[in-house]
Amino acid sequence: IKAIAVMTSGGDSPGMNPAVRAITRSALNQGLRVFGINRGYSGLIIGDIFELKSTHVTNIIQRGGTILKSDRCPAFKDPVVRNQAAEILKKHEIDGLIVIGGDGSLTGAHYFTQETGIPVIGLPGTIDNDIYGTDDSIGFDTVLNTALDAIDRIRDTAVSHERIFLVEVMGRNSGHIASQVGIASGAEMIIVPEVDFKLETLCFSLASHRAQSKGGSGIIVVAEGPAPGLTYRLAKQLESHGEKPGVSILGYIQRGGRPTGHDRVLASCLGASAVTYLMAGFTDIMVGVINSQITTTPLQDIVEKKKPLNPDLVELAQLLHK
Ligand code: ATP
Repeated sequence: IKAIAVMTSGGDSPGMNPAVRAITRSALNQGLRVFGINRGYSGLIIGDIFELKSTHVTNIIQRGGTILKSDRCPAFKDPVVRNQAAEILKKHEIDGLIVIGGDGSLTGAHYFTQETGIPVIGLPGTIDNDIYGTDDSIGFDTVLNTALDAIDRIRDTAVSHERIFLVEVMGRNSGHIASQVGIASGAEMIIVPEVDFKLETLCFSLASHRAQSKGGSGIIVVAEGPAPGLTYRLAKQLESHGEKPGVSILGYIQRGGRPTGHDRVLASCLGASAVTYLMAGFTDIMVGVINSQITTTPLQDIVEKKKPLNPDLVELAQLLHK
């Protein structure tokens, strides 16, 4: 391997920049040429590629987002387009690719290397932490802390006005963000797509919460779920049961911002390891972390397997309120 390329794809996440920095610097230190691909697969298929020098990654470790830009590229689901993309990499004499992104991006990476033979290593770069084969994804720790900061503030108002607040966090189909944010914020309840939920249970626990003289305030953390508008619908239902909940949708505020120290270290370690694995001849794997050890998982597993949510966390939030 003489030249590698790196891209960021799917939703941006804080820590992508430290990963790009680590990949660039470790590859350069080992005598490789490094190319940056702008806008993920969208840039790849039109050849939006430039050579990365050490100075390109100066002063980016603390910056949220991604200097390489990111995008969603439906066209990449077409094998013909993936083959054209391979030709573009060959034209630049690039013989290895590192893709930083979520499970969709890593699925595309798997098909790409299978069909074209170009070695590809994936890194888990998503705030959602829903990728099989890693305890932690780049950006997850930052989103937890950003959401917590917001919820701590909302709680001030909830307590002062003795109100219940529904706070919606990101995570699409998964409740990994909601469950951890819920525990760490001391939420009265956590609602996630993976665990069945009954409105009656929620109303009952709010009533018993009051009966125990804990005041009329509370925070319910809701995972956004696959269909938009869930939290507002929930608020309406609670209103019909006599509650007057406030609603706060944290939204995109969660995606940006300076990566935490944890995410910077994680991204740096995973980025450097990805280069090592690529140089050692590995392909079609994701480099992640399990039990604090750097591990590799076949990309095929990421395509086929869903990362389970620990349902104990959801229950724990309620237990800690009894
Ligand atoms: P996040 O979870 O943070 O949003 P993601 O990587 O899962 O990130 P997606 O929008 O699912 O985000 O995927 C990003 C891109 O990966 C898609 O726009 C597409 O280019 C590529 N991709 C996703 N699924 C496939 C697939 N089945 N085959 C080929 N490419 C895919």
